[in-house]
Amino acid sequence: MATVIVIDNDILISIEKVTYENVECIKVNFQKSNSKYKNLEVFEKNSIDQVFIDTKKLIDKNVQVTCWDPNDAPGTWSKNNWFKDITLVSYISNSPHIFDKGPCIKCKTYDLYVNFSQDFGQTWMHYSCKDN
Ligand SMILES: [Zn+2]
Repeated sequence: MATVIVIDNDILISIEKVTYENVECIKVNFQKSNSKYKNLEVFEKNSIDQVFIDTKKLIDKNVQVTCWDPNDAPGTWSKNNWFKDITLVSYISNSPHIFDKGPCIKCKTYDLYVNFSQDFGQTWMHYSCKDN
């Protein structure tokens, strides 16, 4: 199997349990990317509840999503919006040149576009969120 990155960096918005192509799946929804599906019957048969608990912790955070494809058939699973793993992206290690201001204190989105502070840089929010 070859590991393929299907989403390099996006914000996880929500998760749900759905049936996709006739299998029980966890569906993960993103700010910008297509929703992805993990086959719970194949990958998580004995830990379905734990998968939901673990994945919920990633909501509102930047994540990277990977899938497996057979070595001799690239795209078999990844092209159909399947995924296998979802992991937190650490801005601090990936982008050392960017000063990490943390998530927007108003909308909680962690996207590095926060640019407005009312307490001299202790906490930050989006300029567009400041009056919310
Ligand atoms: Zn905001």
